[in-house]
Amino acid sequence: MKFADLHLHTHFSDGTFSPEELARRAREAGLDVIALTDHDTLDGCPRMRDACAAEGLGFVPGTELTADTAGQEVHVLGYWVDDTSPALKSELERFQRVRHSRIEEMVARLNSHGVPLRAEAVFEIAQCNSPGRPHLARALVEGGFANDFDHAFDRFLKKGRAAWVPKARMKSADAIRLIHDAGGAAVLAHPGLYRNDGIIPRLAAEGLDGLECWHTKHSAEASANYARIASELTLVPTGGSDCHGMAKGQPLVGRVRLPLECVEALQARRPAGAAMVS
Ligand code: AMP
Ligand code: FE
Ligand code: FE
Ligand code: ZN
Repeated sequence: MKFADLHLHTHFSDGTFSPEELARRAREAGLDVIALTDHDTLDGCPRMRDACAAEGLGFVPGTELTADTAGQEVHVLGYWVDDTSPALKSELERFQRVRHSRIEEMVARLNSHGVPLRAEAVFEIAQCNSPGRPHLARALVEGGFANDFDHAFDRFLKKGRAAWVPKARMKSADAIRLIHDAGGAAVLAHPGLYRNDGIIPRLAAEGLDGLECWHTKHSAEASANYARIASELTLVPTGGSDCHGMAKGQPLVGRVRLPLECVEALQARRPAGAAMVS
């Protein structure tokens, strides 16, 4: 049997691994195919493709978009999207600009609460076009304003805390259309984290292709529940570890092992005429 991990991050967004280190660890974990799904960017895909080739792994290019469905924040994974698609490129760039201003806004809030952090310190740590709260958490730890990563979230960055600023979202229907128009397949990430399964049929009606049934934050019961829902709604069941490198303790790559048949079934859901890239 061959296995895939379809949800992975690198330092091109809020993961800590380079593409090369991630590919090496994926091979060591016994995986055959991996996808890169950095938040709001495809920047890491060319290097990840080369790194996978060097390790003898199959590669699926992807990204993780932030969307809204019925007032709920959801993450939509787009796989095999064409990184030259002008519409996708301009949307990703718009979201990256919003991420930068969100960091500036969060830093301003910290400053007004007596934490003298500079936005530049966060951008220096992030060193990518898709900065997010994890980079701010690292800056707070380095600056001595929090004991560790989780403490930074607990103290300042969690929803409702002093520095929290809501994240921009696109409409879920727009996210799915954007992915399809770029030749990709759209998958709802970690449905178990939303605690609202009622959104899944809505997203399916909007054209969703797959459901991330297996995820490191899903219990065995939750995974079985989502596999049943996927089957009922004719969504392809998928899975991934959502590894962020060392950002959250131990690396998760390979903790979820998706049979390759599911990757092939997902690939078959791409819009007709989409180029068959691997
Ligand atoms: P952002 O995209 O800037 O909203 O940041 C989201 C990232 O922060 C995701 O990778 C989450 O896993 C991480 N995150 C969100 N909440 C927490 C938390 N309470 N503790 C640790 N990490 C968190
Ligand atoms: Fe993340
Ligand atoms: Fe996510
Ligand atoms: Zn993720």
